[in-house]
Formats: sequence, structure tokens, C-alpha cells
Amino acid sequence: MRLVTTPTQLWRASLCELAVAWGDGHDSLHPVRSSRLACNCAGCVHEFTRAPLLDRANVPADVRPTRIESVGRYGIRIVWIDGHDVGIMTFRDLRALCPCDECSLDSAGKGAVAD
Ligand SMILES: [Zn+2]
Ligand SMILES: [Zn+2]
Repeated sequence: MRLVTTPTQLWRASLCELAVAWGDGHDSLHPVRSSRLACNCAGCVHEFTRAPLLDRANVPADVRPTRIESVGRYGIRIVWIDGHDVGIMTFRDLRALCPCDECSLDSAGKGAVAD
């Protein structure tokens, strides 16, 4: 699997927003809570069945990262204020979460399942 999209820059735009400048020229602004809800670690998604284990109601509305670390060349690890720090978000996943119209239309066109 070849990674086609990597960020050139990633920074915290505000307490609750994560900004990413992508190598292909795209910029995205992510509400950080959506990244937390998309966590696919073994504690949030069942390892074998992929069933969601995370209770969204337990994720505070103002959840935010205390630290963001890069993981190799393929992703980031976010340390959350609620102590959750085991999930690795790949750049691919991060890009898929881009909430802008362009990307939403893009994934709709590919038949992605809407939440
Ligand atoms: Zn998790
Ligand atoms: Zn986008």
C-alpha cells in the first residue's frame, strides 16, 4: 500500500482544532473531537470484529490533545487530555476525516458510508 498523501505541516489551530497542510496542496481543519471519535485502537474498536467499543457519550465535548507526536512517516499519535494515548492515526485516516466540502463530496462519490 503506497501512501499518497502526507502532511507538510500539522499544527494546532486552536484548542479544539487541528490544522493540516497536505503535500498535494490541500488544507484541512479538523475538529479534534472527530479524531478522538475515529480512534481505532484496540480499546476503541474491537481487534477482530472491528465493532466499536468506544462510547461516544463518554468522550467530553471539549476533549483535546495535550501532545501530538509523529509516528514514523505514516501517522501521528495524539495524547488526549482524558488520558487516552494508545491510538495511532495514519495520515490516510486523517485525510479521510477532512470535513471540508471537497473531501466530503469526494468520499460520497466513492460510495463511502455516511455516518
Ligand atoms: Zn482508542
Ligand atoms: Zn478536505
